[in-house]
Amino acid sequence: MQAKNGQMPILVFSGNKKLKTCQSGSRRSGRNYANAVILVVENMINGKVWLRKGREESVLRGHPWIFSGSVQQADPGLADGDWAEVVNSHGKTLGYGHYQRGTITVRMLVRGEESPPPDFWKTRLARALDMRRALNLPEAGTNAFRLVHGEGDGMPGLIIDYYNGVAVVQAHSAGMHRQRHAIADALVQLMGTALQAVYYKSRGTLPVALRAEAADEYLYGHAAVPHCISENNCLFDVNWEEGQKTGFFLDQRENRSWVARHCHNRTVLNTFCYTGGFTLYALKAGALRADSVDVSARALEITKTNLRLNGFDTNHNRCLQADAFDYLETSAGNYDLIILDPPAFAKHRESKHQAVKGYQRLNMLAMKGIKEGGLLATFSCSQVIDRQLFYDTVVSAAVLAGRDIKILHRMGQPPDHPVSAFHPEGEYLKGLILWVG
Ligand code: SAH
Repeated sequence: MQAKNGQMPILVFSGNKKLKTCQSGSRRSGRNYANAVILVVENMINGKVWLRKGREESVLRGHPWIFSGSVQQADPGLADGDWAEVVNSHGKTLGYGHYQRGTITVRMLVRGEESPPPDFWKTRLARALDMRRALNLPEAGTNAFRLVHGEGDGMPGLIIDYYNGVAVVQAHSAGMHRQRHAIADALVQLMGTALQAVYYKSRGTLPVALRAEAADEYLYGHAAVPHCISENNCLFDVNWEEGQKTGFFLDQRENRSWVARHCHNRTVLNTFCYTGGFTLYALKAGALRADSVDVSARALEITKTNLRLNGFDTNHNRCLQADAFDYLETSAGNYDLIILDPPAFAKHRESKHQAVKGYQRLNMLAMKGIKEGGLLATFSCSQVIDRQLFYDTVVSAAVLAGRDIKILHRMGQPPDHPVSAFHPEGEYLKGLILWVG
């Protein structure tokens, strides 16, 4: 970049989008990079989105999504990932959020007339971190938790999981992708020495058009994988670079403890085991044996590593590669506690009916085979299957299996996966512990 008339050029950025080049002499200061000054305007508002008449109700109530059907017009200069000012049909400012063409046009981040301050990310992340501290996370024995849970933490489109010194950041929107460096900087400032590295992993979660440019990479520091975490004193090797999602399912932490309370002196089967979370809790709680089933050979390798890491025998506690449906059909009768924690059978509303059939069959097979007086811990993480529908599906499975069931315990997602009262769609995980007679 050439200096003009002996003046330093100034490059103005919003996130990583260059807005303009101008000459120095301006009173705003920036960071001096060799022969250019980079002025980063992180939260600059790039344009307005006008709502149709009478469509501001849900925004005023605090729902964070503005659907395309509510939008009258968006400023033509707005690009995916820009900050937009949302106004009603009279031009009154309702708030600010990330613009993106598609079904959800704006993901709201700020309500009211005041635009996001320069320290927006630091303030918003500090709030999420303070809440975790109030929940005793981290605590002795648990050094991994979800630090940011999207809408539940007022940051739609952003997930951050914390694994014993390493933050894994996952963006689901163009806006969060654009802000990734600002988010990482704010995390580093807030967490200090508690943060060794920030890894960005969004290639699989961003809109398809952005995936090519979104490298999975370290934004700060570096950490070797696998990386050991402790959850309620169970050790797990986590590999965020190659594993599913951010590397580990933190949302089952409390449910693993609930199930563990029933495992003493029981023979346990953990289907859809992935990293073996439920298996380890069961063994620590005194299970006679805990077998793990997954269709993926890689998942079983991880489970075996984790069994060894905690001093458990991988011959006695078998790790079996199989389709869970097939395995239950032949072998459910060998167990007196069975865990069913499948992946989401429905990712969209259109697949809801098929998903219900899937949950019904899975639960029916487990109930049909399990020993009399056995226990079933059954889960669904499909957001479109709500609590009542899941319950009804499980009851219908009991009818089909011809077994009596009693509900011993109802489960959900832990408090580090909060649900905003104004965004009930954030509730996705539900589970039941059943006695099967
Ligand atoms: N229960 C785990 C998370 C499960 S993730 C935990 O507590 O961490 C879902 C797992 O189901 C994945 O590991 C995937 O490989 C496995 N899976 C998907 N379909 C399967 C099938 N039909 N039979 C067995 N495992 C399956």
